[in-house]
Amino acid sequence: MREVIMDIVYIVSAIMFILGIKMLQSPKTARRGNLVAASGMLFAICATLVHKDIISYKLIVLGVLVGGVAGVIAALGAKMTQMPQMVALFNGFGGGASALVAMSALYDVALLPEGAPRFWSGFSIGLSVIVGTVTFFGSLVAFAKLQELITEKPISLPAHKLWNLILLLASLSLSVYLATNLDYRFAWVILALSAVLGIMVVSPIGGADMPVAISLLNAYSGLAAAITGFVLNNYGLIITGSLVGSSGIILTKIMADAMNRRFIDILIGNVTIQVDEASFAGVQIKGTVKKTTPEELAILLDSARAVSFVPGYGMAVSQAQFAVRDLAVLLEKEGKEVFFAIHPVAGRMPGHMNVLLAEADVSYDKLKTLEESNSLIGEVDIAFVIGANDVVNPLARDSQNTPISGMPIIEVDRAKTVVVLKRSMKAGFSGVPNPLFYLDNSYMLFGDAKQSIQEVIRAYKEYKGIK
Ligand code: NDP
Repeated sequence: MREVIMDIVYIVSAIMFILGIKMLQSPKTARRGNLVAASGMLFAICATLVHKDIISYKLIVLGVLVGGVAGVIAALGAKMTQMPQMVALFNGFGGGASALVAMSALYDVALLPEGAPRFWSGFSIGLSVIVGTVTFFGSLVAFAKLQELITEKPISLPAHKLWNLILLLASLSLSVYLATNLDYRFAWVILALSAVLGIMVVSPIGGADMPVAISLLNAYSGLAAAITGFVLNNYGLIITGSLVGSSGIILTKIMADAMNRRFIDILIGNVTIQVDEASFAGVQIKGTVKKTTPEELAILLDSARAVSFVPGYGMAVSQAQFAVRDLAVLLEKEGKEVFFAIHPVAGRMPGHMNVLLAEADVSYDKLKTLEESNSLIGEVDIAFVIGANDVVNPLARDSQNTPISGMPIIEVDRAKTVVVLKRSMKAGFSGVPNPLFYLDNSYMLFGDAKQSIQEVIRAYKEYKGIK
């Protein structure tokens, strides 16, 4: 009877997850969607608590307390700009947990579902340990790169891919061996090999390609949970794991398209492209940098008909989204056409710019995709680049050997005038210098983006005599 109730609750939870994901499609329903999916997870956890094999509730309560307190402290302590690395880390924990749960079944083989073929249960444990551990250690490397604890540049060994293949084949062979004898010691060896594989898979991925790596790790964490679900014959885990895995794969496909990378290369970890750092580090950039002021921009804005805003990671750092919205509203009131050009990998997590602009109540119809933006950009009088760098770097389009080569950009260099808001001449996340800043039609407004925009608003109002 208990099992039937559990399965019914799992199905209800699954329906709630699917509804939740559906509601995430629009910013209007996204918060509610999150709540619906989280409630579904709560139901699934409660259902699991009536499982007949539970030996001690004390340990479970202890685990909930330790995990809950650590999660709350980590989430409260993280700044908004640190969200991407938090997501990467929590993702990794999901994979690690799946691996450990699957392994625990080896310590008490009686936990394996009755009637299930032992060989396949053992092999599934091996697979879960491989995928979960790769996710955990890969996510740690992704976290360290995003947190700038280690260089975001690709790190690789000679014959790196060959080593990866050897590690993978060794882990799979040991999983076959594990399946025949169900000895937990082999699982630990598989875990150690997979830990090295996880580090090796993510370390050669350069900063610019991190979005695809993160979404792929996300998919892997779902896959690990689903495999563990098969080990324990737990429908809840199978369903949630499959949902996370499949949505992660879809996200990876979207990110791969955004970066113009081949999906199959990403799936097999072949995301690094041949980078000739010597050639781009010493790129001979022609032209001079021209600084501008809010007062000059006020005059320029007055004569502009169409204005676009191109946000990037710097907008998140300076929390400039509210000031940008205010400027956009002001310009629209003045009869100008305004739109926001959103690059899919701008910022540090998928949808980063959409989230920030939704927070500032910018209407969704003002947000244009990469393709829409590029079809309009030639007619734009002023393109404001708000703390974006890699996603507007013409070298991605015009050069073959940089880490961002091949990635489509928002082609602000085709606008009549470009105004770049940033604090210095430093390169973006990929480390590639940006010739945009030296173009004839380009002007730099140095400083924190939020303050700069506020200054532009003040100067424009003064110039136009607006109260
Ligand atoms: P970049 O990281 O390329 O550039 C951001 C720019 O913002 C910097 O050049 C910096 O210049 C400027 N900046 C920082 N703080 C401020 C501030 N307070 N005020 C004004 N400017 C500021 O960002 P993009 O959004 O253009 O590109 C995203 C990059 O991150 C891509 O390479 C992408 O592949 C990668 N990435 C994306 C992920 C995703 O899922 N979206 C995940 C992981 C990586 P300065 O210091 O001079 O101010």
